[in-house]
Amino acid sequence: MSCCVASVLTEDFIAVIQSARLPKEGETIHGHNFFIGFGGKGANQCVQAARLGAKTAMVAKVGNDSFGDSYIQNFKDNGIRACGCLHAGENAIVIVAGANMMLNKEELQDALAAITSAKVLVCQLEISPQMSLRALRMAQENKVTTIFNPAPAIPDLDPDFYRLSDVFCCNESEAELLTGSSVNNVEEARCASRELLRRGCGAVIITLGAQGCVVLEAPESTSKHVPTTPVSAVDTTGAGDSFIGALAYYVAHYPAMRLEEVARRAGQVAAVSVQSMGAQSSYPHKRDLGAELF
Ligand code: ADP
Repeated sequence: MSCCVASVLTEDFIAVIQSARLPKEGETIHGHNFFIGFGGKGANQCVQAARLGAKTAMVAKVGNDSFGDSYIQNFKDNGIRACGCLHAGENAIVIVAGANMMLNKEELQDALAAITSAKVLVCQLEISPQMSLRALRMAQENKVTTIFNPAPAIPDLDPDFYRLSDVFCCNESEAELLTGSSVNNVEEARCASRELLRRGCGAVIITLGAQGCVVLEAPESTSKHVPTTPVSAVDTTGAGDSFIGALAYYVAHYPAMRLEEVARRAGQVAAVSVQSMGAQSSYPHKRDLGAELF
C-alpha cells in the first residue's frame, strides 16, 4: 500500500499522520500512526547537534505551562542546556530560537557570555528578526562562527543577515523566495547561491532534498554540487534541521574541514533521518553512524 505522510510543524511541536493518500481540499479521510513529537526548527537543530556529541545550549523562550515544562524537559533529556542555566565557556554550539516571538533583548543579553564563548552560533527566524540580528552581531564581534538559516522564510530579509552569516544555509523554497528565481534543480541552485553570496555572506549552502546540496564559498565563483546517499525515504520532515544541526556539529568540531566535506557529512546524517518517521524521533545519535563520519 502506498503511504503518504502529512506533517504539521509548529514552533513547538510536530504532528505527523500517515494515510494511504493525501486528502483533497475539504475532504476527511482515515489516517493511521498519528503521533506528536517535539519540534521547532531551532530545537530540532539543537537536538541533532547534541546527539552527535556537541555541547549545546539553547536560548529560547517557552510558555509557562505544562507544554513549556515538557519542552524544557526534552532539552534536558537530550543533554542540552536551556536558557536560564547558561554558563560561559561550556558550550560548543549555541542556538537562538524560540517557542514564540517573545524573546527580548534583556533575555538575549543574559545569554551574552554563553554566545560569545561558543564556537558556533545558529540562528533562524523563529524569534523576531531584530533579536536574531542582535545575536548574530554578538557572535560576529566575538569571532564566533555564525550559521544562519532563514526559516521560516520571509520575503524582505534585512541585508545585514547576509553580512552577518559565515554560512547561510537554506532549502530550495527559501532560496526561491529570497532570490525571486525558481530553484528546482542543481543548476538553478547554483545560480541562486551566486546571488545569495553576492549579498555578503561568507558561504552559501542550498539543500535540495534527495539531490543533496550546493555549496558556494567566497571568494570562489564555482559552486560544488554535493550529492547525498540514495536511500529509501519514509518521512523527510525535519531533514533540513537534521542537516543544519549536523552542519553546526562539524563546523564546531572540525574547524579545518572544508565546507564541502562538512556538507557531505551533514547530508549523510540527514539521509539517516529521512528513513524513519518524525523529526527529532528520527535523528541519529553518534553511535548509530559509521566511524567514517567522525
Ligand atoms: P528541508 O527539510 O529544509 O526541506 P531538504 O529537503 O533540502 O531540507 O533536506 C535536507 C537534506 O536532507 C538534504 O540536503 C539531504 O542531504 C537530506 N535529504 C532530504 N531528503 C532526502 C532523501 N529523500 N534522500 C536522501 N537524503 C535526503
